[in-house]
Amino acid sequence: MHKAPRGTFDILPQEHAYWKHAEEKAVSLCLLYGYQPLSTPIFEDAQLFSRTVGKGTDIIDKEMYVFQDKGGQELALRAEGTAPVCRAYLEHGLFNLAQPVKLYYIGPAFRYERPQAGRYRQHHQFGFEALGEADPVLDAEVIEMAWRFFISLGLSGVSIQLNSIGCKLCRPGYLEVLRRHYSGYTERLCSDCKARLTRKPLRLLDCKQAVCQEIAGTAPKTTDHLCHECRLHFESVRRYLETLGIPFHLNHGLVRGLDYYTRTVFEVEPQEKGGQSSLGGGGRYDDLIETLGGNSTPGVGFAAGLERIVLNLKRESLDIPPLPRPVAFVAYLGQEAKIDALKIASELRKAELAIIMATGDRSLKGQMRHANSLGSTYAVILGKEELSNRNAILRDMASGDQQTVPLTELTRVLKQGQK
Ligand code: AMP
Repeated sequence: MHKAPRGTFDILPQEHAYWKHAEEKAVSLCLLYGYQPLSTPIFEDAQLFSRTVGKGTDIIDKEMYVFQDKGGQELALRAEGTAPVCRAYLEHGLFNLAQPVKLYYIGPAFRYERPQAGRYRQHHQFGFEALGEADPVLDAEVIEMAWRFFISLGLSGVSIQLNSIGCKLCRPGYLEVLRRHYSGYTERLCSDCKARLTRKPLRLLDCKQAVCQEIAGTAPKTTDHLCHECRLHFESVRRYLETLGIPFHLNHGLVRGLDYYTRTVFEVEPQEKGGQSSLGGGGRYDDLIETLGGNSTPGVGFAAGLERIVLNLKRESLDIPPLPRPVAFVAYLGQEAKIDALKIASELRKAELAIIMATGDRSLKGQMRHANSLGSTYAVILGKEELSNRNAILRDMASGDQQTVPLTELTRVLKQGQK
C-alpha cells in the first residue's frame, strides 16, 4: 500500500475547517492592508534560491529539492516564498507601478528536513511582501499585520521577537567583532558552530545547543554595531511599533536562517515554545532584488507556516467555524421517483442550494441515516404519491418534523430555512 511520502500528509475534509479559517483570515487581512494576490510556480530555476537564500544555509545546502528536467535545466521545488515574489516583480516590471508594490501568496514550500511535529518536508506558507520602499514605517506596518493576523485567528499569548542585523556596510565590521569574541571559545562550540565560525558567523547567535547559547549570551550585540542609518532606521521601527501599541521583545540572538535579510528581522512565537515553534518570521531584504539583477530596491515581508498555525489552533482548542453542510438531502422511493429526484436536485442546485442526492436503492430509513451523517439540515423525500400531487415531504432532520410542500415552493422554503 502506498503512503504519503515521509514528511508530508493529506489534509482530510474535517481538517479543512482549520485551513479555511486560517486562509480566510489571511486573505481578509491582506485586503485590509492593500495587498494583492500573486501566485508563482511550484518550481523555479534552482539558482533563484541559491543566489538569494544563500549557499551555506541549511535550506540551500541540505534541504532543497533540486532536480534536472528532461531539457537538462536545474530546477528546485519552491523552498520559500520571497525570492519568487521578487523574481516576478522584476520579470513583470512591477517596479514601474506606484511603490511600494504589496503582494501576498499562499502555497506549499518544500524542504528536506527531519520530520517531527511542526516540521515537514512539504509545508504551506502564507506570506506578504512590500517592495520598493525603505521607510521604517513599512517595517512596523508589516509587523503589525503579522501580529493582527495571529490575534484575528484567536491565538493567545503570541510574542514578537525583534532585532536588527544591519546592512552590507556595517555588518562586516560586526562580524569581525563577533569572530573575535568566539575565538576564545572555539573548542567548546558544537561541530555545527565550528563550521559557522568561518562560513555563517551570524548563525552562531541562534544555535540551540546549551553550551553555544551560553557563549552567545555574552556575544557582542548586532544593535551595538549598527551604522548611523541602520541605527536610526531601527529606532524608528521601534518607535512606530510603540505608537501602534504592538508588544515586542528585543532578541539579540534573532538572526534568521536566510542570507538575504538586512536591518529589521522578526519572528512570531506561540505561547507554547519549543525547538520548532516559530509561527512565522520576516524582515527587511534591501539587497535581494539587486542580487537578482534588478536596480537597488528595498523590500520587507513576512511568512507564516499554516501547519504550525493549525497545530496551535488545536492546542488552544479554539472554536473554528465548521465547513458548510448540505441544506438538504434528496431521498426517493422507487425508480420512478429517482428520475424526479435527479431533476429536482439539479433545479435546487441551480438556485445555489447545497444538495446531496441519494444514490442506490437504500430504504428510506437508510437514506435518512445517510442524511443525518452528512449533517444535512433537511431531507426532501420524494415518493410516488407525493410526486403524483407535485408535492414533496420536507423533513427537519434535527426535530424530525415533517411537512408537505408543493414542488413549486421547495426552493423558497429551503432558502428560508437555510441556517
Ligand atoms: P522561513 O521561510 O524559514 O522563514 O519559515 C517561515 C515559517 O514557515 C516558519 O516560521 C514556520 O512557521 C514555517 N516553516 C518553515 N519550515 C517549515 C517546515 N519544515 N515545516 C513546517 N513549517 C515550516
